[in-house]
Amino acid sequence: LIELDRAHLIHPVASYRSHEKHGVRVLTSAKGATVTDASGKQLIDGFAGLWCVNAGYGHDSIVEAAARQMRELPYATAYFGLGSEPAIRLASELADRAPGDLNHVYFTLGGSDAVDSTVRFIRYYWNARGRPERDQFISVEQGYHGSSTVGAGLTALPAFHAGFGLPFDWQHKIPSHYAYRNPVGDSPQAIIEASLTALKSKIEAIGPDRVAAFYVEPIQGSGGVLVPPKGWLRAMREFCREHDILFVADEVITGFGRTGPLFACSEEEVVPDLMTTAKGLTSGYVPMGAVFMADHVYETIADGAGATAIGHGFTYSAHPVSAAVGLEVLKLYENGLLDNGVKAGKRLMQGLESLRDHPLVGDVRGRGMLAAIELVVDKVNRTPLPASAEPARRIFDRAWENGLVIRAFANGVLGYAPPLCCTETEIDAIVDRTRLTLDETLE
Ligand code: PMP
Repeated sequence: LIELDRAHLIHPVASYRSHEKHGVRVLTSAKGATVTDASGKQLIDGFAGLWCVNAGYGHDSIVEAAARQMRELPYATAYFGLGSEPAIRLASELADRAPGDLNHVYFTLGGSDAVDSTVRFIRYYWNARGRPERDQFISVEQGYHGSSTVGAGLTALPAFHAGFGLPFDWQHKIPSHYAYRNPVGDSPQAIIEASLTALKSKIEAIGPDRVAAFYVEPIQGSGGVLVPPKGWLRAMREFCREHDILFVADEVITGFGRTGPLFACSEEEVVPDLMTTAKGLTSGYVPMGAVFMADHVYETIADGAGATAIGHGFTYSAHPVSAAVGLEVLKLYENGLLDNGVKAGKRLMQGLESLRDHPLVGDVRGRGMLAAIELVVDKVNRTPLPASAEPARRIFDRAWENGLVIRAFANGVLGYAPPLCCTETEIDAIVDRTRLTLDETLE
């Protein structure tokens, strides 16, 4: 398998040769929060795949739901006024639970195409309102919004721009709220004010009537699990409302219990105009994403489009098998998984906090089952690890040897997003194996 992989399978990494050098690790089975590799080694998956297997592995009821749907109706297009029962029911169940009036759901295949879809919807929206000049988009530094071309331009990680001429000239950024390394310090009020000022001046620089939408993640995930201060999300939302700018919450990571409730926006009673989700929607068992639209956005687009067809959609939009899985996963969340996630999340944060004294640990942050520790060379000066994939790779390898899968970002941040089904013992093992890995790294 390693040889075949080297020869033929292209992995989604920044350096295409790295898997050839290191060799692929093949997973063969999984149950709950434990994954097994081809050598029979068992590990706790502290990252739920790629922040997605929120329900944990090996749920027979999810498998049954998919199999039942495959037997009955494995495919139905959502084009031409056609539909399928699971897709309709899932849209309705999601709308019932979404914040505020996010009552309209558009299904995609994952997060990147959900984000791309919002850009098109937003352009349709402003066209329908007779304001086509509102065609400029703003997002936040260190944000991640996918790796399709439009999404990659909203993403603020340089590796996703190189060689593509990205971001597009209509895609702008404001600095992140990143508290640990913020020039304004780490006071919540100062950070909120700095973000508001940055957004205001960006809008002025672009032109006051030119900005279509502002994109945020309730917690920045791929940028290194950067948690904004309490009140930040709400302040940004209110600012956008006052300036008639659409506010888009990208909940691809934070949605479906990752931070506690079903949607992180609910924690600050924020109702965005549009919201993107994926990952936990189907818990990674099958691909699916969903764009949520507020009533006024949907009504404007639907009325404005009139007889003109909106040319947007995918062959697998609203896939019935994915929708059947989504319905089953939603039941699991509400039959104990969300509650367990909240309990396990508290224990995870306490456990990681106990590592704060470790000489390598500069910062510990997170909410619920979404957390990170940031490693530093020097705690006092907060000197970051050298920005290179190699130290991260070594920590990832050591953790693997110690029976733990984590995400080791190139900037020295270790990311945690375990399945919400983790037991107390598993959470404690995640923390213990992290401590062991850090001790070994010091040696
Ligand atoms: N938005 C956010 C916030 C994400 O974290 C991701 C994926 N990590 C995406 C969008 C893109 O989702 P996908 O990989 O499913 O295309």
